[in-house]
Amino acid sequence: MADGHTEQGAAAAVDEGRLWGRLMALAAVGARPDGGVDRPALSMQDAQARSLVAGWARDLGFAVATDPIGNLFVRRAGRDPDAAPVLTGSHLDTQPMGGRFDGAYGVIAGLEALHAMNDAGISTRRPVELVAWTNEEGARFQPGCMGSAVFTGALALETALAAVDRDGMTAREALAAVLAGEPEMAIRPADAAVHAYVEAHIEQGPVLEEEGLPLGIVTGIQGCRWFAVEVTGEAAHAGTTPRARRRDAFMAAHAIVAELRRALEDEADVTRFTIGRFEVEPGSPNTVPARVFFTIDLRHPDAARLTDLGDRVAPLAGSAAGGCAVTVTQTSASAPVVFADPVLRVLRDAAVRCGVPFRDLPSGAGHDAGYLAAMAPTGMLFVPCAGGVSHHPAESAAPADLATGARVLAEGLVRLAE
Ligand SMILES: [Zn+2]
Repeated sequence: MADGHTEQGAAAAVDEGRLWGRLMALAAVGARPDGGVDRPALSMQDAQARSLVAGWARDLGFAVATDPIGNLFVRRAGRDPDAAPVLTGSHLDTQPMGGRFDGAYGVIAGLEALHAMNDAGISTRRPVELVAWTNEEGARFQPGCMGSAVFTGALALETALAAVDRDGMTAREALAAVLAGEPEMAIRPADAAVHAYVEAHIEQGPVLEEEGLPLGIVTGIQGCRWFAVEVTGEAAHAGTTPRARRRDAFMAAHAIVAELRRALEDEADVTRFTIGRFEVEPGSPNTVPARVFFTIDLRHPDAARLTDLGDRVAPLAGSAAGGCAVTVTQTSASAPVVFADPVLRVLRDAAVRCGVPFRDLPSGAGHDAGYLAAMAPTGMLFVPCAGGVSHHPAESAAPADLATGARVLAEGLVRLAE
């Protein structure tokens, strides 16, 4: 049935009410009184959410399995059982004060795409698999994106399973408890080939809503460099010490921050520059500060630009420090991810064929797709969310926009699987 109209068939079979109904059923698992969702990774709520998705998938005749880090896979068979599958999905865990759509949307949109392929009677050469990655948020166990990092070989399984939450429980123990609730669940090997990966997600930013667009084609994930800055001066009496005799660590840090803002922030507002922690010691109202510690989170979608901007932090800080000593230490770095052109082209084509206006945009936040991109051609679709609000109980998205994203996803998956 792989004629020229099968893709429209899948897109047309996407059911907005069914998609919304499943999203709301999922949002009831770990629901907060304020309308948000609290569903920690590998918690009993997470187990319940997995069972819900697995149940829907089994009712549709799909095979369900998990791998050693607990990633949940739903497989819609293709004509060639040996062909590497096209993969789509996202995550079921949330932040402690999370919303109903972050992660959940990508899983339910993927399930809707598979369901729509069934309804439209479409057969694909490659299998199409839905995945719910374990612990994307990193709120309970660190690091985040744990399931996709293990799946792609970026993180050792043993390291991931040894992660400990605040109550002293290991990810290994928590996962065993989750899997105990699904004793029939098939376990598949950790290593699996992937032909392509597509993740649908709410934007978590304001761009699409502001521009009145229902869809974003995500071109990549911006890179991030973290720095720790320590400024050392000398404590002195606030009342008796003249300006010329002071080595005031706060005033030096203030000058450094002003200089960094001037040099790093750009008019186009692409660079993200954040000081999220700022500590002053000894912290006494009548003592000239002896030491300041602050953090820098610097992000940019272009690798060369991020390297250049980050490399300027230490010299700029040194030149603005006056009589104080300053040390700048890079504490973490992740390179920007650029998504693969073949997948982006398929997604743009799919949007055009569905008659959906869209724009390209980079992702400001990290996603499992960042790890998958190292393993297989990868792309993402964004749908608008109200006010750009995310990681918050008020997180919201319109049913029609969510269905539009699922239509383009279904169309793209069929094409990639053929
Ligand atoms: Zn997410």
